[in-house]
Amino acid sequence: MKGKSQVKSALKTDGEMSCASELRHLSRDPDITKCPDPKIRINFHAPDELGEEEFVILGDRSATQKSGDYIDEVFRGVKSKNPGETEFHQAVQEVLESLRLVLQRHPEYREARILERIVEPERVIIFRVPWRDAGGEIRVNRGYRIEMNSAIGPYKGGLRFHPSVNLGILKFLAFEQVFKNSLTTLPMGGGKGGSDFDPKEKTDDEVMGFCQSFMTELARHIGPNTDVPAGDIGVGGREIGFLFGQYKRLRNEFTGVLTGKGLNWGGSLIRPEATGYGCVYFAAEMLKTRNDSLEGKLCLVSGSGNVAQYTVEKLLDYGAKPITMSDSDGTIFDPDGFNREKLDWVMELKNLHRGRIREYADQFKTAIFMPSDKGADNRLWNIKADCAFPSATQNEIAGRDATNLIRTGVRLVAEGANMPSTLEASKIFLDAGILYGPAKAANAGGVATSGLEMAQNSARLNWTREEVDERLHKIMIRIHASCRETAEDYGTPGNLVNGANIAGFLKVANAMLDEGIV
Ligand code: NAP
Repeated sequence: MKGKSQVKSALKTDGEMSCASELRHLSRDPDITKCPDPKIRINFHAPDELGEEEFVILGDRSATQKSGDYIDEVFRGVKSKNPGETEFHQAVQEVLESLRLVLQRHPEYREARILERIVEPERVIIFRVPWRDAGGEIRVNRGYRIEMNSAIGPYKGGLRFHPSVNLGILKFLAFEQVFKNSLTTLPMGGGKGGSDFDPKEKTDDEVMGFCQSFMTELARHIGPNTDVPAGDIGVGGREIGFLFGQYKRLRNEFTGVLTGKGLNWGGSLIRPEATGYGCVYFAAEMLKTRNDSLEGKLCLVSGSGNVAQYTVEKLLDYGAKPITMSDSDGTIFDPDGFNREKLDWVMELKNLHRGRIREYADQFKTAIFMPSDKGADNRLWNIKADCAFPSATQNEIAGRDATNLIRTGVRLVAEGANMPSTLEASKIFLDAGILYGPAKAANAGGVATSGLEMAQNSARLNWTREEVDERLHKIMIRIHASCRETAEDYGTPGNLVNGANIAGFLKVANAMLDEGIV
């Protein structure tokens, strides 16, 4: 067995060592048991700061440490191969943490290098999008499509048009989408795309020109059996219409290559409502586990786009009292709560006039507008309420916002937006033992209904509003049950983050095993 000084020098770089000379980092993993096979060789990473006293040499290693080391190794690989893509790192880290539990039970995933494969997109397409603005100037944006994983079906996931869009953000969204789509039980792989184009304050003609240029390139890469994009931030019915029109023209075929289409040209009833409705159905299921309901609950909703609007609508149906909405300029707080008339006004403001949420406070005197103040606590998450529905964007709930939410009495968080909580905020929710519905489960209703739109397109049928809504509702009930059962099965009852990550992963991983090294 090596002496301490040799060990110290061996640890200066990452590498491989035999199981029989395993090192133990005492502060990290105090419970190491016997190694099943001392001939096994393992990968290890040199710690950034080597404290000699923290390490001892062991003759043995445990399955626990084996999976832990492997997960750390995969995560380091992700960080070094994708430098600066912080949102992607965050999304991967959260999933890998949950998968520690799986690898102890399923060494076959490690042998097949499923983790290394699942974090690597199958294909990344980056392209130039030139277009002409209303003043005749030529503008250039960057377009992307991340085809992340097609193990269980064609790539499926939205397009985001927002100035903040970059490769790391789209890779996080595509990665999340893989697990989310798997949870829906529908045959859809994961993808995401978009552009740093900002549709705000553009004319309809400018948006059309941009969408046509964007689709001229994207059309080469998508198709109803290959990759089926949909909307996301900045891509609603108007943009999907322009994108679909250009695809049809280029390909000379009328096909279900996009979802979120208009009702007269292949769309599904309930698709616009689906993400918000689904999130509220999920929240209702969570509350049922505590013999509770949404009736009378004070609810904080962020955002005022597609997801936020239909979250508020369904909360009203359930007898809850939504009291906030927001956009990137700030929050409106209406202590009297929204009602149908006020929501209709917001929908017209946002969807037709493309106005700003602050205008609500001019129209309805019961409300106040709180401008956003970057760097300070988000005041929206500091209002006394029972439930929170973040429905704007990623990382909109920082650790201190999560602390505020718990302090002011929130007992349920259902994520309509994708990854709206930082890792620190998620941990605060889990530690507090509140009902916490993570995005990939709670907002899966949108993509599930996109799957239903694809099914209707293939069968050339249109289901009624009631039929689609009932299917959506059943899917959300099933997703909740599956996350809950999986969390329990893996020894973390009530932890729907683990439940969603593991249940979503298992189906995709098993398909990848079946399909060989591709
Ligand atoms: P949307 O209709 O474009 O609305 C987005 C809302 O969020 C707007 O109110 C917008 O305000 C606000 N917002 C966007 N970026 C922001 C930022 N950086 N800071 C503060 N506010 C910001 O988009 P959406 O479809 O509702 O999507 C909202 C979230 O839900 C996203 O995370 C999306 O990925 C997720 N999601 C959407 C669907 C779907 O079916 N649409 C499905 C699953 C998940 P401004 O107008 O001021 O930008």
